Amino acid sequence: MTRPIPYVNDDVVNRDFKYYIFDWDDNILHMPTKIRMEHLDPETGEWRPVEVSTSTFALVRSDSAHYRPPSAGGWTEAFRNFADPDNAAEPNRFIEDTLVALAKVSAGEKPSPSYNTFKKTLVEGRIFAIVTARGHAPSTIEKAVRLFIDSALTPLERETMMSNLRGYRRWLDKVEKFGTDREELDYYLSMCRYSAVTYDGFKRRMADDPIYREKLATATTASKPELAKEFAIRDFVEHVFHMLRRTGGLGRSVAIGFSDDDKGNVKSVSNYIKAELSRRFDGIKFVVYDTSDRTLSKGRKVCVSGQMNLPGF
Ligand SMILES: [Mg+2]
Repeated sequence: MTRPIPYVNDDVVNRDFKYYIFDWDDNILHMPTKIRMEHLDPETGEWRPVEVSTSTFALVRSDSAHYRPPSAGGWTEAFRNFADPDNAAEPNRFIEDTLVALAKVSAGEKPSPSYNTFKKTLVEGRIFAIVTARGHAPSTIEKAVRLFIDSALTPLERETMMSNLRGYRRWLDKVEKFGTDREELDYYLSMCRYSAVTYDGFKRRMADDPIYREKLATATTASKPELAKEFAIRDFVEHVFHMLRRTGGLGRSVAIGFSDDDKGNVKSVSNYIKAELSRRFDGIKFVVYDTSDRTLSKGRKVCVSGQMNLPGF
């Protein structure tokens, strides 16, 4: 017989502090969204329009000799399907594609490498960040996460998640009178971060940051998305750090994981962690997972940086 799930799981007190940063496409879900590019036809020497999947794009995006964004409209046109519609009444492709991708997993298709880690993160009620090259508003991504919770978690797992969320609320926020499940879930999801780095609001925030304004000024076009991911990661690490300081959680081991299926991002984020983040947050352990190899169920651990002892806090 299985033990019934307690209304409040007070055992979360004994847990380590582990947080995750997830890329979305081909890391959490295989989305059907296509990127509009132009490909150089080797026979005729002409550039022809071609639609590529996100996993293909991750491989060809630096191959500028054979692939380029559409001559009319450039990168904005290339990623037209990756942003929210101008008119809110129009259907949102991200939401629609998320439903399609989730339905495929429900039907038995092999999930993306970090699908199960993301699911576990939610069931355990851990804070996470979604960091994607997409251009959606944070509220759109949060909506997709709710769809993930509805589809990927069983009723028992959702109950476990709620029990864990109440455990954290009692422990860290000293809450005794809990809201409805909906309210507690809203609170949890509001603590997480949803950064689509080509969203206008995100770009404005990045341009307003003195350090990143300078970095952007000297960056090449190709390195800008990676720089934006860096900024989003720093934002989340600072958020976690402040939250732990507020709740008195510093003084335990803290680990932050990052997973992405794009080798370029994995490399630049690993370098960024080693060069900057692990020095600035020397009590936090950082772990980077390369999930580009679909045959590996959780990806490959490529970078571990930082200490597990926390004398500085
Ligand atoms: Mg990806």
